[in-house]
Amino acid sequence: MNDDQLLRYARHILLDELGIEGQERLLAAKVLIVGAGGLGAPAALYLAAAGVGHLMLADDDVVEISNLQRQILHTTARLGVYKAESGREALLAINPSIQVETLTFRLLDDELDAAVAQADLVLDCCDNFATRHAINRACVKHGKPLVSGAAIRFAGQISVYDLRDPSSPCYHCLFPEADEAEEISCATTGVLGPLVGIVGSTQAAEAIKLITGMGQLLVGRLLSVDALSMRWHDVRFGRDPACPVCGHRA
Ligand SMILES: [Zn+2]
Repeated sequence: MNDDQLLRYARHILLDELGIEGQERLLAAKVLIVGAGGLGAPAALYLAAAGVGHLMLADDDVVEISNLQRQILHTTARLGVYKAESGREALLAINPSIQVETLTFRLLDDELDAAVAQADLVLDCCDNFATRHAINRACVKHGKPLVSGAAIRFAGQISVYDLRDPSSPCYHCLFPEADEAEEISCATTGVLGPLVGIVGSTQAAEAIKLITGMGQLLVGRLLSVDALSMRWHDVRFGRDPACPVCGHRA
């Protein structure tokens, strides 16, 4: 690490649990963030600021005015620009020394598979169940850790699926695909702006812990927050031995 990097990352390096070694791991890490919206924005900003060396930012939408109430990667001047490109500009403005790769198309089977295979870990910051399950399947297949977040109205959820470990549950163990008849979206029901910041920042914290190997991860625990009462709940869950996605593992 050079002098600039030692200065830039000093407040992380000062943490005994993280230190120079942890910072080196962050610099060497490659993280895929699926979704550059409400959750992806704070997650990407914190990971870029922390010096995660290579970020892949995937989103096929363009910035709309109704996004700006919460999607803090984007600006009024960048309305109509691909969110991934707008995000790249914001991230490089904070930390020009990192690499930010943009994926401005919907990650369907092959593209998603290829992106997940390249990443050290994946952040699910998307807004629909079909993509969540596709990300989970690719992470199970490639044994990549998955940090998942969701937020709607005043309710947020975060969990980590450490799919490097065959005994770890996957997203499908907790949320079987068949249960999802109705999809609700922020576009129709609304979402509290800072809530996506809380959830996305928590995802960034878990990602940094995963990369540096510090602390205890939210594995096998679903953390929920109700922003109206500002109460947090932590529910434990295990692997579904009959899970069609990860059931074939160990
Ligand atoms: Zn499973």
